[in-house]
Amino acid sequence: MSTYRVNLKDMQFVLFDVLKADTQFAALGLADANRELISAVLEESARFCETQLAPLNAVGDREGCTFVAETNDVRTPAGFKQAYDQYVDMGWPSLVSPPEYGGQGLPETVGIAVKEMINASNLAWGNFPLLSHGATNAIEHHGSDWQKQVVLPHLINGSWTGTMCLTEPQCGTDLGLIKTRAVPNADGTYAITGTKIFITAGEHDLAENIIHLVLAKLPDAPEGSKGISLFLVPKFNIDAEGQLVDRNHVKCGSIEHKMGIHGSATCVMNFDDAKGYLVGQANKGLMAMFTMMNSARLGVGLQGLGLSDRATQNALRYARERLQMRAANQPARPDKPADPIIVHPDVRRMLLTNKALVEGGRMLLYSAGLHADSSSYSKDAAAAATDNAVVGYLTPIAKACMTEWSIECTYNAMQCLGGHGYIAEHGLEQLARDARITTLYEGTTGIQALDLLGRKVLQLKGEGMQAFGAQLLQLVTDCMAVPQLASHAQELGKAAQELQELTLRIAQAVQKDGNEVGAAAYDYLMYSGYVVLGYWWLRAAKTVLDGGITADAEFSAAKLETADFYFARLFPRTRTHAAAIRSGAAPLMTMPESHFDA
Ligand SMILES: Cc1cc2nc3c(=O)[nH]c(=O)nc-3n(C[C@H](O)[C@H](O)[C@H](O)COP(=O)(O)OP(=O)(O)OC[C@H]3O[C@@H](n4cnc5c(N)ncnc54)[C@H](O)[C@@H]3O)c2cc1C
Repeated sequence: MSTYRVNLKDMQFVLFDVLKADTQFAALGLADANRELISAVLEESARFCETQLAPLNAVGDREGCTFVAETNDVRTPAGFKQAYDQYVDMGWPSLVSPPEYGGQGLPETVGIAVKEMINASNLAWGNFPLLSHGATNAIEHHGSDWQKQVVLPHLINGSWTGTMCLTEPQCGTDLGLIKTRAVPNADGTYAITGTKIFITAGEHDLAENIIHLVLAKLPDAPEGSKGISLFLVPKFNIDAEGQLVDRNHVKCGSIEHKMGIHGSATCVMNFDDAKGYLVGQANKGLMAMFTMMNSARLGVGLQGLGLSDRATQNALRYARERLQMRAANQPARPDKPADPIIVHPDVRRMLLTNKALVEGGRMLLYSAGLHADSSSYSKDAAAAATDNAVVGYLTPIAKACMTEWSIECTYNAMQCLGGHGYIAEHGLEQLARDARITTLYEGTTGIQALDLLGRKVLQLKGEGMQAFGAQLLQLVTDCMAVPQLASHAQELGKAAQELQELTLRIAQAVQKDGNEVGAAAYDYLMYSGYVVLGYWWLRAAKTVLDGGITADAEFSAAKLETADFYFARLFPRTRTHAAAIRSGAAPLMTMPESHFDA
């Protein structure tokens, strides 16, 4: 079985030393979110996650969820309900939610650190509360007064959970193909009919009620994605005061049997004239749903981070204990029959790759949270808008790169264990199976890449990218004057410049061939990910060299060594991505379809 310990030391380094989050919170008027309080929250969360959630990770995988066909119910694995009750009793669901609806109003960045712990402890369990947070955001920003006053407090205190119902059998990425219908009722509600598939936490036994946020089309809706509306459909109907009345006409038809996250219920949901309430404006549902999806996308990035950290911790422990072969130069443990495998360069390659991606990814995700907080709480409207654009730019990178890296990290970790990594007992293969979904749901990597290049960079003229780029150039300039960092700064500066040139090149090429954006998108996304991570590793190294960090000397030295490793061994991956982008659409599009199996 794999184990997990929360890396509080690194979380505190990122939050307080690198990001100076407490100082930034004070400047945003969130003075209560001081270092002492945040540290106490993180410690308490670590205790809950390590003792309650982590031990259930293997149980959830082994048992999975059970569908009870007679009653259309879903039973979660043993222990999940007790853990959820504790989670609610301890007030975790309301941590970052708005106080006017019963939330504790802590910054999103703190919630992000807590979510990382939950995901690393038990990703499948974490999927049940995950979408409640997104649903809360969508209702808070787009819901009616009744939805805010009556529904929100229940989602926020965790007595009800939320879902996100987009996918249908014929409609995955292309939401314009939605068939679910919403017909107005005389009382101002709507009758929702249709089938949604793959709905995470669509049915379960953890909470009293489930609030489905459902995309559907009104009878007179325009064709395609312009005609989609968002509806709130409760499992149990609710009266004006929020009391549960009777069962609504929405039922789970079955659950999926899948490669991983067995403890997470993935449901077929049948809506049969179910009573629903419009959220936001008619035909503007996608906009409202995007509020939810952006929050969920960062949440899935955190799933990648959590799994990668847990896998790496287990691989490291094994690599220190497992004795095989001798070190190349001289025995490291002459008293033993062989040396621990951590002496071998190839094992160190895998462990260091994971360390650099996990700790770098943590800086990337927490910084996205901080930009989100600045955008929510800043009194300066222009600064808030810029922060919002930066979050928009970083979200597809954080989601897609961190999840792609989670596949690399969990596979690296398995590889470190040799054949034992493939054996269920060690738990590494579960992490690799669980990681596989993260590049698929909440928009595949290919779709995140199109969102980044097609929408955020080309269509929206790269406002977020430019703001981040200005920050990057400043850091590069500062670090050029630091001998130990000058060569890293130079490499990062060159890459940032190249990324700009490539952006222009794609913008010109697409004028002649519409495929040029799609052909470049994946490599552009990954290139951007390595540049953003390069920025954070340079910032981490500079933070250490500037002094004043709270952790010990060994920790500081490890940061500098990992930054050196990152620039020597991972950052050069940008060159392969640049070459692929330069090759344009032709190598992908020249071959006629009939030649694929010629
Ligand atoms: C375990 C699990 C949980 C899920 N939870 C939810 C949930 O809670 N709510 C919900 O609504 N959905 C959920 N989903 C659905 C998930 O979000 C979709 O599976 C995903 O968005 C992809 O849609 P699809 O499977 O139909 O693939 P398709 O859209 O058919 O895509 C297939 C492939 O084609 C690629 N592709 C498609 N169009 C393009 C394009 N224009 N350019 C480039 N590539 C393209 C995709 O990237 C992908 O690789 C879940 C799925 C799973 C497996």
